[in-house]
Order: sequence, then structure tokens, then C-alpha cells
Amino acid sequence: MPVPFSQTKDHYDLIVIGSGLGGLTSANRLAYCGHKVLLLEHHHRLGGLATWFKRNGHIFDISLHGFPYGMVKTCKKYWNREIMGSIVQLKNIVFDNPQFTLKTTFDKNDFTNILNTTFKIPLQTVHDFFTTVAGMNFYDDQSMTTRELFEQFFPGRTDVHRLLMEPITYANGSTLDDPAITYGIVFSNFMNRGVFTFEGGTDKLIQMMSDELEKNGVTICTKSKVDRIVVEKGKVRGVEVNGKVITAKAVVSNSGITNTIHNLTDRNCFSDEFLSRADAIRVNNSSCQVYMGIRDGERIADVGDLLFTSTAPEFDSAELLDIHTRSKTFSVYYPKTRPGHDRYTIVASMNGRYDDWTRLTDEEYQHEKEEMTARAIADLERYIPGVREKIDWLEAATPRTFNRYTLHTHGTSFGTKFEGLDISRTIFKEVPGLFHVGSVGIIMSGWLGAINYGVIVANDVDGYIRSI
Ligand SMILES: Cc1cc2nc3c(=O)[nH]c(=O)nc-3n(C[C@H](O)[C@H](O)[C@H](O)COP(=O)(O)OP(=O)(O)OC[C@H]3O[C@@H](n4cnc5c(N)ncnc54)[C@H](O)[C@@H]3O)c2cc1C
Repeated sequence: MPVPFSQTKDHYDLIVIGSGLGGLTSANRLAYCGHKVLLLEHHHRLGGLATWFKRNGHIFDISLHGFPYGMVKTCKKYWNREIMGSIVQLKNIVFDNPQFTLKTTFDKNDFTNILNTTFKIPLQTVHDFFTTVAGMNFYDDQSMTTRELFEQFFPGRTDVHRLLMEPITYANGSTLDDPAITYGIVFSNFMNRGVFTFEGGTDKLIQMMSDELEKNGVTICTKSKVDRIVVEKGKVRGVEVNGKVITAKAVVSNSGITNTIHNLTDRNCFSDEFLSRADAIRVNNSSCQVYMGIRDGERIADVGDLLFTSTAPEFDSAELLDIHTRSKTFSVYYPKTRPGHDRYTIVASMNGRYDDWTRLTDEEYQHEKEEMTARAIADLERYIPGVREKIDWLEAATPRTFNRYTLHTHGTSFGTKFEGLDISRTIFKEVPGLFHVGSVGIIMSGWLGAINYGVIVANDVDGYIRSI
């Protein structure tokens, strides 16, 4: 249970700023290792982007659309068996666009079959493609783009490019022009066994994580926004919240890397060379969502768990980001999502650009939100005729919403482009005791990426604390 900020002590071994999945995991691992940990979160609830909200008896999940099988091992090893035990597969993934309509379990076997029989790609080519992406790792040459990778194996086949790329663009914001490694690692993770979800919903997961933190002795304060990371004599000394300084041997920031460098830490603490690289970091895109709640007692047909739909003629990264995009993913949450909670909800997700939404006047903003909501319902009607009459709650989120709740620069949903990873990994060399965890480099984002990165950073911090 979170404690009021007024009850915090003056000193901890280390402080974690932010309770996204990366921050929660680092805090948990470090407390498990015996360190006294303070976790400070600006929002009233833990989880960061792994969150939910309740309206009119509905529970809407924000970022529980799907993650790779790797979460099973990660949760078992770094959280607990109960968390692992709630991970279940989503078997019904649907694509519908002007180039093809198909249903898949989104794993290597099924994709091999689809690429060979539906798209008429020779089996050897499919096999070579899978071998190439599965062999990609962080230390590879990063000059090849995903576009070049696709052209190498499937030249001119924009339909195949769409099948392979569209879900990954929704999953981590990467485009055809990002390094192929950002595609290969995430795609291979999914192809391992398919798409998985957390039965019971995000609220159950975060409660279980919160219980584990408490068991390991983490002091948690919500509604506690860190205003400043305090650095003295070139080393981290602590953080400042509402004028109170709390000291610690190390600080782990789960605030975005750009926030951490530009807003939380004095720029004079960093070398010019580091700052010039940090200033060049590009943040990833943000998101828009439309939340639809089905009236209690009404039912809807099973139309798939995830529907990647588009009326755009071909896949185009810019089209997916457009404020009037014709592409969206529907996540359909049936009663099985939350056993015992007999409700249906549907979330339409789109990628979005922060600037497109912040340049609008208040009136224009309301208008665009209403138009986006109307487009989402019209598109959903194509799969569930008459659904409009069954909806009793409608709400929309835009990049402005994501920025407000997480404080992320430009409301980024997936952290930064590739260059952010190196900055995040080396920040402690600039300011000893200062570490960053959280979505960076495309690779370290998503539920699995954020948790795994939380473990990596916790190991760094543990080593640092033991060395001083
Ligand atoms: C719409 C959407 C859909 C997504 N869908 C999926 C999906 O289906 N599958 C998947 O795997 N991933 C998905 N993701 C991505 C995934 O949710 C994120 O990559 C992951 O949750 C990010 O974790 P994080 O550790 O980077 O922290 P974040 O979740 O970004 O949290 C950072 C936390 O730090 C806090 N904070 C920031 N500054 C301060 C401060 N100064 N003081 C105190 N607290 C502070 C914030 O309030 C926040 O709680 C989705 C994301 C979005 C936006």
C-alpha cells in the first residue's frame, strides 16, 4: 500500500522515480537484493502506461493488447509464479485491409504457411527470412533498415511488407526506415509462440506487482512528483519533491530519458559531448485511443481478439500516424479477459503525432476527438453490425492525454528511437549513481522490453551500490 509522502524517511539506499513496468521491476529486484528502496510516482496509481480506468461498470485497459511469450519466463524469474500463471494466449488475430483478409495465431508456423500458400512465397525464402531476423542481435551492424530487409527477401511485395510490418508499427512505433534490428528482435519475439495477454486485466497485474513490492519492503509513494534530481560534487545525492530533499546512494529514473536529462537534472552535470548526443534523441510517436463499453447484459459476436484493420490501399508508416488515419487496431475484450466480470469492452488504437493535437484550439481539439470516435464506431460496425446501439460508454484519448498522465515528452508511447538506448545505458558514466530505466531504443519498450530492461538496470545499480 502506498504511504503518504509525509511519512518518508530522509534517506534510502536508492530511489526509483516512476512506476512504469521498468521502474516497478528495478525497485522490486533491488529490494529483493536487500536494498532499502523508495518508489516515487507522480500519478495516483502505479503502472505508468500499463494502466486502466473504470467507467460506468466498465474497466478499460490502455496497453494490454498483446505481448510475446517471453513474458512467461520473465515474470516467473523476476516477479513470481502467480503473475506468470495468469499469462494466456490470444489465438485469434485478424487482418483486414484492401490487400488481404486473414486470420492467424501470429506465430512462425502459421506465418510460414500463410506466406507460402496465400502469398505464394517459396518456402526457402520464408525460411531464410526467419533465420535472418532470428539471428539479429544488439551487436549487429545497425545500418540496414527494415525497408531494405523486406526488399531483400520480398522485393516489391507491399502486401507481404504490410503483413510483416503493420502489427510491429502498432507494437513499438517503428517504421520501415528504422534499423532492421528494431524490427527483427520484436518480430522474432512474437513469432516464437504468438501473442499473449494477462488474464484478469492490467488492474490485477499491477495489484500483484504492488503486493510483491510490499513483500520485499519497498516504500511506495504515489502523488509524489520528483521535481529535481540532486547532484553534488559530480555524484547523485538524492531527489527533491515539493521542496523536501531525500538522499540516496543511487537514483533510478523511470521518467523518460529526455525528461531525465532536460527537466530533472542540471545540464551542467553532463559533458558537452554527452549533451550533444542527448539533444539529438528523437522520441517515438504517441497514440490515440477510443474506448467503447458494451451495455451490461448485451453480447457481441467473437470477431477476433486483435483486428488490424485499414482501408488505406497499402501500408505506409506516415499514414498510420496521420490524424485522420484509415488504419487502426481493435482490441476486443470478452468476458474471458476478466473472469467474473461479465462485460465486453473494445479499444480502438491508433498511432498519433503530438504536434498534430497540440496545435489545435480547444474547439478544434474537441471536434477532432469526436470525429475520431465516429470513425472508430463506423469501422467497428463493419465487423459487428449494430454495435453502435449496444455501446453505453465512449471516451477518447490523444497524445495530449498520454503526456498529461505520464509526463512523457510529446506523450511518447514507446520511448525513443534507437539512439536513446546508448544514452540511457551510459548516463551513469556521466553522473555516478544516476541510472535510467524505461522505454528507449524501440527494443527496450513494450511490456516485455520494459520489464527486461528493469532487470538489467537493477543489476547495474546493485553492482554500483556494492562498489561504493
Ligand atoms: C496506447 C498504448 C498501447 C500499448 N500497447 C502495448 C501492448 O499491447 N503491449 C506492450 O507490450 N506494450 C504496449 N505499449 C507500450 C508499453 O505500455 C510501454 O512500453 C511500457 O508500459 C512502458 O514502461 P516504462 O517502464 O517505460 O514506463 P512508463 O509506463 O512510461 O511509466 C513511467 C512512469 O514514470 C512516472 N513519472 C514520470 N516522471 C515522473 C516524475 N518526475 N516523478 C514521479 N513520477 C514520474 C510516470 O507517471 C509513469 O508512471 C503500449 C503503449 C501505449 C501508450
